[in-house]
Amino acid sequence: MHDSSNNRAKLSVLLMQLPVPNNPPLNTPLAAGYLKAYAYAQGLSEFAEIEILPRDLADAAGDALLVDEIVARRPDVLGVSLYTWNSERSIDVVRRVKDYLPELRAVVGGPEVQKDNAWVLEHPAVDVAVIGEGEQTFAELLQSWCDWRLAIGDWDKQLPIPNTQYPISGLAFRDADGELIFTPERAALNDLSAIPSPYLAEYLDLPTDGMMMVEVSRWCPYSCSFCLYGRNMGSKLGNRYFGLERVLSEIRWGREQGIRRVHFVEANLNLVPLFWPLMRALEDLNADRQITFYAELRGEHLTDEVVGALDHANVRYVEVGLQTANLAALKASLRRTDLRKWAAGTRRLYAHDIEVYLDVILGLPADDEAGIAETLDFIQSEELGSYDVFTLQVLPGTAVRQQARQYGLSFQDRPPYYIRGTDRLSYADLRRLRRELKIGANVPPDAVEGMPEPRRDALARRADRFAADAPGCIEQLWLLDSGLAVDSLTMRQLAAHVDVVIMGEDLAAHAPFLSAAIRCNPTTIFDIYIYCEDAPPSADMLAQWREALPFQPGYLDRVAMYQSAESSHGYIRVSPRCFLVLPWTSTAEPVALRNAAEIIWRFELADGDGLPLGAWFAAGGRGIYLQFQPGCAAGYRSRVQEALERWEHETGRQVWIGAA
Ligand code: SF4
Repeated sequence: MHDSSNNRAKLSVLLMQLPVPNNPPLNTPLAAGYLKAYAYAQGLSEFAEIEILPRDLADAAGDALLVDEIVARRPDVLGVSLYTWNSERSIDVVRRVKDYLPELRAVVGGPEVQKDNAWVLEHPAVDVAVIGEGEQTFAELLQSWCDWRLAIGDWDKQLPIPNTQYPISGLAFRDADGELIFTPERAALNDLSAIPSPYLAEYLDLPTDGMMMVEVSRWCPYSCSFCLYGRNMGSKLGNRYFGLERVLSEIRWGREQGIRRVHFVEANLNLVPLFWPLMRALEDLNADRQITFYAELRGEHLTDEVVGALDHANVRYVEVGLQTANLAALKASLRRTDLRKWAAGTRRLYAHDIEVYLDVILGLPADDEAGIAETLDFIQSEELGSYDVFTLQVLPGTAVRQQARQYGLSFQDRPPYYIRGTDRLSYADLRRLRRELKIGANVPPDAVEGMPEPRRDALARRADRFAADAPGCIEQLWLLDSGLAVDSLTMRQLAAHVDVVIMGEDLAAHAPFLSAAIRCNPTTIFDIYIYCEDAPPSADMLAQWREALPFQPGYLDRVAMYQSAESSHGYIRVSPRCFLVLPWTSTAEPVALRNAAEIIWRFELADGDGLPLGAWFAAGGRGIYLQFQPGCAAGYRSRVQEALERWEHETGRQVWIGAA
């Protein structure tokens, strides 16, 4: 590719990281930042231009818009960070980009890229896979491509697949016969100071309401069988940590950008040697306590002094990961926990008012119903407060995957790789226990983790019929006026989460457009609000209409698997979500419609009206679409909204606000 800025040829590299569907603010492409910072530190800026896909696109755009934006940049190399939540979507985007740019070389890296994860390594859209820590491998790969182009003097020729004669460590690729080749394993970096800070180099843009991820070390002395981090990062710390001044400079930089939440990317913050100087320095740097910190900690080592230091530094959220208190499951998971010491340390956090995330994993090897009961008893008897429930993910590259036969583990073959049964717990057992545990943990039992909540303003008409919320990114399709034509350009500009508002009688008329939009954006979450003046369509008709729309199971559909009594498919369809917006006077029964759509009751308020909260709750359905009549005073509106927020919190229902 020709670089016109300095009139010399350069390799054009684009890096992409797609978000967790319901949490774009967390999607700091730190790995991409490290790749760029390390490659440039090795002198590659002379030969390569590395761009990180801007966050407003990566975080909000639907599949087709991503494809178009990547194609418009015409990179030679597309590097993609693959995590469980984005791997299928990312690879499918790459596949589609290659239809337009057949010469493109796609390089994948990240936790999903493991020797035992054949679906990624053998995917036809993937040219080269980087296994393990990526900075050195990726820089060497780019250097080899730059050298090759310099040697042949042609900067437009397709880059070759690496060859086996002069192998670069840490790669997997297919040879000319299609056979998968692995080069020797890549040794991890001895000293992390070789990677300049991508924040300080201004390679990463942060949304001000976002969270800043700050890595301290790459190390964990443990090797729990279900975890990839401990296994990948190694038990020897050596110099595999960033210096105190570097960490503090990043946090200072984040403060200047307006960041108020910092998430330490660190398995056991209280075990790293940097802990004490870091805590003391943060006490000064963050004396006004404007930043709150999140950290993962080792519970057994939480002495009074350690917890006091966390408190003074304003570490307000911590994860201490119990996972299980069943000794057999702890042993089988290769997890060394001194339960009593761990509980005492965790209680000290509560004493300092630090919010604790305490996790329990369902489906661990050698765990059973009695073991799960034991875990719950332990949490209660040790007064450890509330917990959260996670379903075991049999992740690529982990020891638990290698133990699958030993413990009779069956699991999904694609992300999230949820456990489907063990030698001690059938799918039905797991499903029942999961539900009981979630109810016990005060978590909605049927919520799909990672699924975006319906937008509160979905029923408020935005600027125009096809409202654009991010540049070129459409989040609302207002199709209430009949006879509107939606062009193919619109389909290619949709966001990753789109609200569609249509009339009940127009369902059939809009099906062709929606089908085309879904085909164009197979991972977009479509929330379809079906507005009905009178009687709604029947449940059967609605279900058939939804069923006829195109569908390709993806990550969130597999996350939802446990909603189904059958595990045979391994997924359940989550999009489109259909909502029937009915007049409050409608006699429709939410229960009768529940397999097709959820009801939202339409209700108008005049100034000073009381809120019939009890009647709304008794009516069932998903919630209320509230319209204020003209003349409602601003003070009344804000009092109503405050009351509704409390009602939502207490009941789990939702309120949509619109104007009459
Ligand atoms: S679960 Fe935590 S302690 Fe265990 S190996 Fe992973 S990072 Fe280390």
